[in-house]
Amino acid sequence: MKNENIVEFQNVSFRYDVSEGEEQLPLAINHVSLNIKKGDCVAILGHNGSGKSTLAKLSNSIITPTEGKVVVKGMDTNNEALSYEIRKTVGVVFQNPDNQIVASIVEEDVAFGPENLGLPREEIRKRVDDSLKAVDMYDYRHHESHKLSGGQKQRVAIAGIIAMRPECIFFDEPTAMLDPKGRKEVMDTVFKLNREYGITVVYITHFMDEAALANRIVVMDKAEILLDGTPKEVFENSDLLKSVGLDIPQCAQLAKELKKSGVNLPDNILTREEFTDSVLNLLGDK
Ligand code: ADP
Ligand code: MG
Repeated sequence: MKNENIVEFQNVSFRYDVSEGEEQLPLAINHVSLNIKKGDCVAILGHNGSGKSTLAKLSNSIITPTEGKVVVKGMDTNNEALSYEIRKTVGVVFQNPDNQIVASIVEEDVAFGPENLGLPREEIRKRVDDSLKAVDMYDYRHHESHKLSGGQKQRVAIAGIIAMRPECIFFDEPTAMLDPKGRKEVMDTVFKLNREYGITVVYITHFMDEAALANRIVVMDKAEILLDGTPKEVFENSDLLKSVGLDIPQCAQLAKELKKSGVNLPDNILTREEFTDSVLNLLGDK
């Protein structure tokens, strides 16, 4: 049978090292098993320190497990000889766009990765242009990187990753440092890469509204997976989520309150779109 998992975390544990003589740290990832299927769009939610960034770094061999295995398209990340191939397959976009910009001009920045792959000039040109178009930054290709807004910089960083033609991208809170406009630009780009380009997407977020738009949500708590399911399945556990410092999306909360006060709204409202549609429906019925 065809194995359609891009990334498999097989009973993975990870512990950060300390200097000699210091007491060892608790596990940052504690026996986690998780499969990311090809084409999927997965959100990872969790309180600070729950292990989300560690999971992202494990996905493409930036770090390797203390115990267990991470397998990327059949390649074990413990095998150093494969790390080049693994990083071409899975890319990671981090929180701070400033740390990810390496060149002063936008198109040079995006060309950095493909140049390191040793690709022919023509191919590099094509990949840079295609990637900048995919994140809607083509018109800025001659601009100075450091003068861009946060959302624009983050999209250039994403272009740099997709110029490597990865099959999967982990986004580690890519919108955490952005204003609402930048957040929307980046999230629109993330979903476009999944839906139009077929790139498997895993995005870490602490915004419930962003998580509600994924096909699947994995909730982490204290180095372990607490919940794993569709947004509807996960957000049904509002008490459990609250107990680990998380919430349900604002629209879901509002719909719940209105229902309690006798407004005839359907169950399972999660997104702004579902909320608006239901309210409009209600008004139309009157
Ligand atoms: P999250 O991204 O969910 O906030 P992290 O994966 O960054 O969580 O952290 C998980 C745990 O590992 C936390 O307890 C954190 O303090 C610890 N940790 C993270 N990075 C390091 C590091 N470089 N050295 C030591 N401990 C770390
Ligand atoms: Mg983190």
